[in-house]
Amino acid sequence: MIVFDLSCDSGHRFEGWFGSSEDYTGQRARGLVSCPQCGSAAVEKAPMAPAVPRKGNRQQAPVPMPAKQPMARGPMPPEVAEALGKLAEAQTNALRDSKWVGDSFAEQTRAMHYGERDSETIHGQASFEEAKALFEEGIPVAPLPFPVAPPDELN
Ligand SMILES: [Zn+2]
Repeated sequence: MIVFDLSCDSGHRFEGWFGSSEDYTGQRARGLVSCPQCGSAAVEKAPMAPAVPRKGNRQQAPVPMPAKQPMARGPMPPEVAEALGKLAEAQTNALRDSKWVGDSFAEQTRAMHYGERDSETIHGQASFEEAKALFEEGIPVAPLPFPVAPPDELN
């Protein structure tokens, strides 16, 4: 199946599902593709939205639904709880010499990647959109498995 964004001569936009591109061409030629709003058969493929948002005119990227959380019935098995404790400890150790940069993580990571500032080990927090943008720019970042308390919240 293939989906096309279509628009009629009155500017109504709608989606059309076809078996193939040839299928669309054939159905359209026989006047079988019509606007669900006004019935017009003068239908064209609608121009696609630009894939790369321009700076200063950034369109909101579509945010997928959050992934489902895997669950198990009953209390957490002790060996899993113990392994998680060790993992949390490992994360803490790994971040000991890392600088917390909070919400400026994406900005600072990007600046380092493009050589606009000196490289250092940092960690912070990023929104889903920021993380996605970094990933799309090919900037290596990894989500931390455990939440990190900002230093000023530590006692
Ligand atoms: Zn229409």
